[in-house]
Amino acid sequence: MPQAKNWIWTDGGEKLKPDEQERRFEKFREAGIEAVLFSSFNADVLARAKAHGLETHAWTWALCRGDKDLLENHPDWYGVSRRGDSAAGKPPYVSYYHFLCPSRPAVRDHLAQMVADLGDTANLDGIHLDYIRYPDVILPVALWKKYNLVQNEELAQFDFCYCEVCRNTFQKQTGEDPLKLPDPPANAAWRQYRYDSVTNLVNHLVEAAHAKGKRITAAVFPTPSLAKKLVRQDWVRWNLDAVLPMTYHSFYNEKPEWIERAVKEGVSALPANRPLYAGLYLPDLKGEDFDRAVRFAMAGGAKGVSLFGGVRKVGAFRS
Ligand SMILES: [Zn+2]
Repeated sequence: MPQAKNWIWTDGGEKLKPDEQERRFEKFREAGIEAVLFSSFNADVLARAKAHGLETHAWTWALCRGDKDLLENHPDWYGVSRRGDSAAGKPPYVSYYHFLCPSRPAVRDHLAQMVADLGDTANLDGIHLDYIRYPDVILPVALWKKYNLVQNEELAQFDFCYCEVCRNTFQKQTGEDPLKLPDPPANAAWRQYRYDSVTNLVNHLVEAAHAKGKRITAAVFPTPSLAKKLVRQDWVRWNLDAVLPMTYHSFYNEKPEWIERAVKEGVSALPANRPLYAGLYLPDLKGEDFDRAVRFAMAGGAKGVSLFGGVRKVGAFRS
């Protein structure tokens, strides 16, 4: 088996003193981590990480964007629910859930420009897309209680996007207004329109990154079937350099064993040359459960793991 590659989602630690930053990156290397997904960074952070032999990736929020400029100047770029609420003014679930509509050319151009700008960053190896999806039409089951919801079906206030652009485009394609369908969630063509909308956007961003010589990856929902059902990500069709599914077992009321099944489903559906790195949720992997989770991920066919919520030594999985 080739040497695995392991990743971590983390911040840039820009406020650390240089020697603290050095120790931090040494700790990552000692833990077996080779690639860092930075939620923020500056030139110094990237240069230092590279000096430690780490890959550097810009962890960016793609479609969930609460930028003041966008909310004020382009409220029409945001998704609209089946109930008619815009994610600009009335986001679902939580106040920061300002999701853009992936079907709009202006949104696509804006995000492609963001990727192109990152593509000019020195010492940056790649761009990592997060929130590259619709708002959860159904939440991971372990979260239902927290929001006091039962989501055995697609509820109108969480079902996106019914903006003018989406309604007109779908109507041109099929002759039907999605808002007037007798049962919109049951309509296969309407579901497919939305899978395609995100897929087309991602593949456009892939081209923008590759034009700048950067790699591009994404954090996705844990399995191809759950990703389509919950957030309309059809990620096996995305032309990324790698996928990092968030195989967070506890979000689905599952045990760590589930990680192997989840990874297997992804690996078997992906093109053979597309690496999958399994995201692990460290707050719910205490003690030896962490090592077991790593072994399950590798047994399922992952090329490594990506750590969220902490640093642990990855290394017990050599088989
Ligand atoms: Zn729309």
